[in-house]
Amino acid sequence: MKSAYLCGMKKRVCPQCKIASMYVKNEQGERLPVYVMENGEVVAKHPDASTEGFDLSEVYCFGCSWHGSPKKLLNRFLG
Ligand SMILES: [Zn+2]
Repeated sequence: MKSAYLCGMKKRVCPQCKIASMYVKNEQGERLPVYVMENGEVVAKHPDASTEGFDLSEVYCFGCSWHGSPKKLLNRFLG
């Protein structure tokens, strides 16, 4: 997956602070930067990173304390 591809895709944003920078955690508590795409898909921010082993059912916002299901993120392009 190329980063240009990600740039062309619409990303969902945090319902509180309206940024797209999210991360997910694995069992070791490590953080992986991700974006949540328009269709609710969780993808790694870096093209060579893998989301394998990370819990994609809950995303955490980098900008505030919000966390929850990727489905609860807002699609800022739809009003
Ligand atoms: Zn936030």
